[in-house]
Amino acid sequence: MTSCGKAENPILCARGCGFFGTPSNHNLCSRCYKAFLKEEEEEAKYTTILSEKVSSFTIDDSVTTEKVGSTMKIKQRCTICKTKVGLTGFSCKCGGMFCRVHRYPEEHACTFDFKSTGRVTLAKENPLCKADKLAFRI
Ligand SMILES: [Zn+2]
Ligand SMILES: [Zn+2]
Ligand SMILES: [Zn+2]
Repeated sequence: MTSCGKAENPILCARGCGFFGTPSNHNLCSRCYKAFLKEEEEEAKYTTILSEKVSSFTIDDSVTTEKVGSTMKIKQRCTICKTKVGLTGFSCKCGGMFCRVHRYPEEHACTFDFKSTGRVTLAKENPLCKADKLAFRI
């Protein structure tokens, strides 16, 4: 008679602590299984903290840049008619900020010398655009 049939297939704890493990506990004894669960929990915490940090960093960056950009723009008013231009303000090379109406140099008695610079840029940009479009059409 064999009365010692408590464990049919006695498995030693996978951590080699000398106790018998249970297959349902990843072949760990009850002690090591508890430790294993704790470790897993902490690992999960650590991973979530890491990912939270990473995502918060990206969010923080965009928020700060947005805040800085919008506060700077909101303060702007048209130099000529004092209309709040907010996000739709047009800055001019003369250093002023203008509304849609006064954004053109001739509308705000621009002090910047556009007569030479403006024409040069226009002359440089326009032929290029036309050439590009023509090239695509052909
Ligand atoms: Zn163990
Ligand atoms: Zn204006
Ligand atoms: Zn101007």
